[in-house]
Amino acid sequence: MSKNKQNFKAPVEKNETYQGEIVDLTHEGLGVAKIDHYPLFIEGALVGETIEFKVIKIGKSFGVGKLTKIIDQSPDRVEVKDKAYAQTGTMPLQHLSYKGQLAFKKSQVENVMQKIAKLPDVPVYGVIGMENPFSYRNKAQVPVRKIKGKLETGVYRKNSHDLIPMEDFKIQDPEIDKAIVTVRDIMRTYNVKPYNEKDNTGNLRHILVRRGYHTGEMMVVLVTRTPKLFPVSKIVPDILEELPNVVSIVQNVNPKKTNVILGQEVIVLHGEDKYHDKLLDHTFEISHRSFFQVNTPQAEVLYSKVIEFAELTGEETVIDAYSGIGTITLALAEKAKEVYGIEVIEPAVEDAKRNAELNGVENVTYQVGAAEDVMLEWSKEGRSADLLVVDPPRKGLDEQFVDAVLTMKPKKMIYVSCNPATLARDLALLVEGGYTAQKVQPVDMFPQTSHIESVTLLTR
Ligand code: SAH
Repeated sequence: MSKNKQNFKAPVEKNETYQGEIVDLTHEGLGVAKIDHYPLFIEGALVGETIEFKVIKIGKSFGVGKLTKIIDQSPDRVEVKDKAYAQTGTMPLQHLSYKGQLAFKKSQVENVMQKIAKLPDVPVYGVIGMENPFSYRNKAQVPVRKIKGKLETGVYRKNSHDLIPMEDFKIQDPEIDKAIVTVRDIMRTYNVKPYNEKDNTGNLRHILVRRGYHTGEMMVVLVTRTPKLFPVSKIVPDILEELPNVVSIVQNVNPKKTNVILGQEVIVLHGEDKYHDKLLDHTFEISHRSFFQVNTPQAEVLYSKVIEFAELTGEETVIDAYSGIGTITLALAEKAKEVYGIEVIEPAVEDAKRNAELNGVENVTYQVGAAEDVMLEWSKEGRSADLLVVDPPRKGLDEQFVDAVLTMKPKKMIYVSCNPATLARDLALLVEGGYTAQKVQPVDMFPQTSHIESVTLLTR
């Protein structure tokens, strides 16, 4: 290892300034310049731009540069909405026009389809974007810290836990931004102690706010270090008076010194641990821990694509793997004979069952378990399905899952993915096993960020 390092000589020197043209963007949206074939990743630089940059890090396979001057600017560059925001990393693509962002995301999917899946001929459709690519998040979780003696809420500076106080978060529902400021002010009034991360002292760690896009119902979660939250008898009525749409206030206690936001202990301070939102005409009960897509209208676009690709007649048996609280499951159930959901987190399955009941849907059955284990078991039992829908987390499908699919041979498969790289890896295996990838439809669920969601149709 050290020998290799000695032999390696980068064509650039640390702390020196260079000029270069940006030839590509990484999947995280960093500009790529090449000096004697050596790639340097430069934040904030766009394809086609000639820039000046200072080398700040030299690695074996790539270096990192800091943009110092734009010499020739891209026509896709837009003025950043907020300089402070650039320090936080929550909108890594904010300097790229929205049209440019959608084009970037499409080409990222095309790239992995060529390079990883080796399926260059599968059509990748244009990314379905939003009319207003801001203010879309239906959920916010902001850290609380003491700055200059004051309780503040905001965002961490990139790669750090230094809080930058912030009131307008740009990509969150503005009603949520307002609620955070309101709750912050109430906490200040009663001198609630902000959490101190260094010595694990103080009390209020995070404020979480979730809001139903279609219902307007709000949930406030106060994450504290200790169960004590003084004076709760005043805080709760104040929040309810200032924010009449709050239906639930939950205290979550997290005593540990950890980056994980939520702890185990839950104290319900008002209402129940739930609020409601709708997706494609179904109502969902959501608890403070539940996974719910953060962009409601685009989730509806995404799920509508799943339904469109499924072409159900009402006769089909469908498996919905990685079903969460049952959002896709219920959308499918309306059009199929029966749907079987598989989900590893038991409370999510409990939510899913209640949601089916709440919507009067009777043709769904849920199985708690790891999808790879349940599918293996079902394939051994000789069970099959006309359609298999999968919506795995970023790491994609387990190999055991793919093997079970290839034994079970559902006629049709729809792959909802939040990570093009693992999607492409899995598609290669499925195609090798006899499936044909028909088309890929990306949907922009996370404008201003480099995340890419897509729906792929496969047939046997
Ligand atoms: N389809 C749902 C949830 C998608 S998120 C929706 O759109 O709302 C992915 C889900 O997969 C999460 O609920 C997560 O708990 C679940 N999950 C993660 N690993 C799993 C596994 N190995 N088996 C089954 N479910 C898993």
